[in-house]
Amino acid sequence: MPHVVTQACCGDASCVYACPVNCIHPTPEEPDFGTSEMLYIDPATCVDCGACVSACPVGAIVPGHRLTDEQKRFAEVNALQFTPDSAAAARFPVDPARRLPLAPIDKPRGIDVDEPISIGIVGSGPSAMYAADELLRHPQISVTIYERLRRPFGLARYGVAPDHTATRTVMRLFDDIARHSRCDIRLGTTVGRDITLDDLRTRHRAVIWAGGAASDRRLDIDNASAPGVLSATSLVGWYNDHPDYDHLTVDLSTSRAVIVGNGNVALDVARILTADPEKLAATTISRHALTALRTSAVREVVVVGRRGPTAAAFTLPELIGLVDGGANVVVDPVDLAGAHAEDPTTAAKLDVLAELASRTPYDGPRIRLAFGRSPRSVVLEATGRAAAVTFDRNRLRPDGSIEPTDETETIDTGLVLTSIGYRGLAVDGLPYDAARGVIPHDAGRVLRDGTPVAGMYVTGWIKRGPSGFIGTNKTDSAETVASLLADLEAGQRTAHRHRRRGSLVPLGRSRH
Ligand code: NAP
Repeated sequence: MPHVVTQACCGDASCVYACPVNCIHPTPEEPDFGTSEMLYIDPATCVDCGACVSACPVGAIVPGHRLTDEQKRFAEVNALQFTPDSAAAARFPVDPARRLPLAPIDKPRGIDVDEPISIGIVGSGPSAMYAADELLRHPQISVTIYERLRRPFGLARYGVAPDHTATRTVMRLFDDIARHSRCDIRLGTTVGRDITLDDLRTRHRAVIWAGGAASDRRLDIDNASAPGVLSATSLVGWYNDHPDYDHLTVDLSTSRAVIVGNGNVALDVARILTADPEKLAATTISRHALTALRTSAVREVVVVGRRGPTAAAFTLPELIGLVDGGANVVVDPVDLAGAHAEDPTTAAKLDVLAELASRTPYDGPRIRLAFGRSPRSVVLEATGRAAAVTFDRNRLRPDGSIEPTDETETIDTGLVLTSIGYRGLAVDGLPYDAARGVIPHDAGRVLRDGTPVAGMYVTGWIKRGPSGFIGTNKTDSAETVASLLADLEAGQRTAHRHRRRGSLVPLGRSRH
């Protein structure tokens, strides 16, 4: 039975290179890599060798016969992308021309640089660690990583939900990278406070900024900063023991929480708020969050998207993980009316939502997925705390886009969580695109007014914006490192030319 990629897929494509028969797609060279919600194994081509299993850093690949009940649906999800005579493939034929005949093997290339090179990396999250890994392939290069916090690996530690234990194992890979003899990691070091960016640029031949998207997008509606309104990202930090959120007060005395936005962060938060605390006790969840959850009064979490179900920001693997993992999820069939999708992944998402709309929820805390509602204002009680959220109802078009109507709906709640994405912050001394919350760049070279800043590079969310999965950072960082190495080699060629000229001039003079 072929192997199957399951929910924890991080998309770093290590499996693609390990596979001897090119059965895992999309590969980084294929057009849908980076937009695809996960990687898939073609069951017809897989030879069941298991090479991908050892390459995967998060244990997401499972032999078909070992799938648990929670994972069984992923066999179908993988096959859906390839099977020529499946009902789905008849509706959505796969163009074989876009698949490469052989696994594209990325041959490690030596660099033409003959002296020791020191590179500084700011941040220790996934993009930083993948950049370090790329650089350390070259024996001339040593890497120093500067991390503000006392514990490394950024969102791999502080962003991944505590019950996503497989995804969190990617930290083992990062640990191996950090322990490399040419890698030095300085924890508790804030660039801009303990050391300046200029110092770093003097100390290292080049610096890669991998500081991530350190803030969240703010919801611009009335009373969005009232007590009782929190960002989902701060709640994630709170339950993951992030030191910046240790003292956050999370009042769970309300029976209903409302989450604005329906990305994967919203699903994570909804799942944690409705999970059995005793099951969470066995995870890495913070003790303060566990204590609060044990006495929580929350019985319903409403996850509200402004667009239709076909445009939901959560991914199919996360939806399947939520539903088949046992969460009590409900959908109002009215919200699905007329929804239709052309591509197999969205069609499969609609199938799961339709299944949820037809089932009877069981007793116990539940998650309601609601669509077509744009937040208008937070309604306050007399004390000034949040008491409800008013939404504008949108008419849903089949493709998921919306048109506003005159109707509004008010949902009572004492806890409003805004989950509308992360945002990168400006860095002192570096250019910043305030509209996108990113550092402008060309293939990872930091650009000021369109011109590369010598020796300064960028990778991760502060480079491309807050999108993608942990493994998306591998190809992103590979691009940045390729630019850096090309510049090092060009610099060395120029230095050689100068040295040759420099040695000829005195010689000529002495002869003269
Ligand atoms: P996201 O996927 O970008 O979702 C943001 C949500 O906020 C969307 O539903 C968006 O709606 C909505 N939104 C934005 N502005 C809004 C506004 N003014 N009013 C109402 N709604 C608004 O962000 P995220 O959930 O923070 O995730 C960030 C990235 O991390 C994503 O790539 C995600 O896949 C990844 N991640 C992955 C996992 C996982 O794999 N388990 C877990 C967590 C995060 P529109 O779509 O209409 O704009």
